Amino acid sequence: MSVTISSELLARLVAAADASPNAEVCGLLFGTARRIEAAEACANVADDPARAFEIDPVALFAAYRRARVGGAPVIGHYHSHPSGLPVPSPRDAAQAMGDGAVWVILASGIARAWRSVEVGAFVEEAISQI
Ligand SMILES: [Zn+2]
Repeated sequence: MSVTISSELLARLVAAADASPNAEVCGLLFGTARRIEAAEACANVADDPARAFEIDPVALFAAYRRARVGGAPVIGHYHSHPSGLPVPSPRDAAQAMGDGAVWVILASGIARAWRSVEVGAFVEEAISQI
């Protein structure tokens, strides 16, 4: 399976991650199950943003509220691993809800996409750029 994203949007996410070497960046992804159409950068409110991310709940709730009244559906989120690999960490796995959410993880100029298909686990999705 794969997830589609424009090369321009993907480059923007990679650049944002590269520009933040000391803290994980994070944000929300919008679109459909198979296509990321937009992204919104959010504040990382984690206690230790160098090693973790927590999307600002105000932004999260606002996005879900917009989606309920016809706005773009939230399909997942992205975050970076400033000193790691673009693969889910144990902490990420602990937050995988098995809800089909798309997780884009950015590290070292590379983006990889994962989908949470069961609690605590991910499958990788190929990123198809258009
Ligand atoms: Zn992570």
